[in-house]
Amino acid sequence: MTPDKIRNIAIIAHVDHGKTTLVDGLLRASGNFRENQAIAERAMDSMDLEREKGITIKAKNTSVHWNDYIINIVDTPGHADFGGEVERVMKMVDGVMLVVDAYEGPQAQTRFVLKKALEQGIKPIVLINKMDRPHIEPQKVHDKVLELFLELDATEEQFNAAFVYGSARAGWVTDSPTGEQHDMTFLLGKIVEHIPAPKAEVEGCFEMLVSNIDWDNFVGRVAIGKVTRGSVKLGDKVFLLGKTPEEKAIPVKVTKVFQYTTLTTSDSVEGIAGDIVGISGFEDVDIGQTVAGSADAVALPFVAIDPPTIVMQ
Ligand code: GDP
Repeated sequence: MTPDKIRNIAIIAHVDHGKTTLVDGLLRASGNFRENQAIAERAMDSMDLEREKGITIKAKNTSVHWNDYIINIVDTPGHADFGGEVERVMKMVDGVMLVVDAYEGPQAQTRFVLKKALEQGIKPIVLINKMDRPHIEPQKVHDKVLELFLELDATEEQFNAAFVYGSARAGWVTDSPTGEQHDMTFLLGKIVEHIPAPKAEVEGCFEMLVSNIDWDNFVGRVAIGKVTRGSVKLGDKVFLLGKTPEEKAIPVKVTKVFQYTTLTTSDSVEGIAGDIVGISGFEDVDIGQTVAGSADAVALPFVAIDPPTIVMQ
């Protein structure tokens, strides 16, 4: 597996425009749903508060294995209170799928997350969703999205985003509002075609920026991030670089490597360049730290996160 067979994508949308339904649809269509089902449910809807309030609080993830490709799908919080977290997600991915309700059109959170993505130079694919709804005007919504791109200073490449129309709930997508309907794997093809492969060096000293932390009952803290160079496997000795150049690197023996998205593991899982994985073995590790194969490696640029303020309605 090489980086050209990997795609790392975030799905961004205003609340209720269909992110969760879309991810379920993609998992089902690719045949990954059964094995991932419990995990996907947990991953996409795990926090009670989120269920109650209908807002995505923590970036969460899943992955689709399709036609020799690994497509890592990173969920993003749409709420402005999680600005820092959105930025961290944008650093991990190479493209976004912007989901917009064909009836409602772009809303406040559409604008907020799209702005973050465009600022990072990320290329979007736009899915005009809920095409099965009555009284929709997809062409108008298409134009509104393009207006938003202009307002947010999209580059020419970003502005020329691919548009796809469909119904995540009914499980079909098409190239144009009146075009032929295809199953959801069509969308996976669009992702592979339009989203660039991750920029990562296969050879060289292992390097990963910790972008998220999870917890596993057996191994404790799991540091999650994109492998930007080299690879990592069970038993490797790596270094957790200090938070400042003065702070010493701490040697760490890797006790597990997790396929990040499903947070499943086997002893043979290897974190390869371009993929997003979880690794354990740390006594302590924070988001923003770099894990590297050498104590002398240079820390990757850090994106601080704002403490989340949860606004109760
Ligand atoms: P999220 O908040 O973006 O994750 O949105 P959900 O996936 O939870 O969807 C919000 C609501 O919209 C749910 O009631 C879904 O069943 C509904 N929904 C999602 N996709 C579609 C669609 O393609 N068509 C219609 N009519 N409803 C949809």
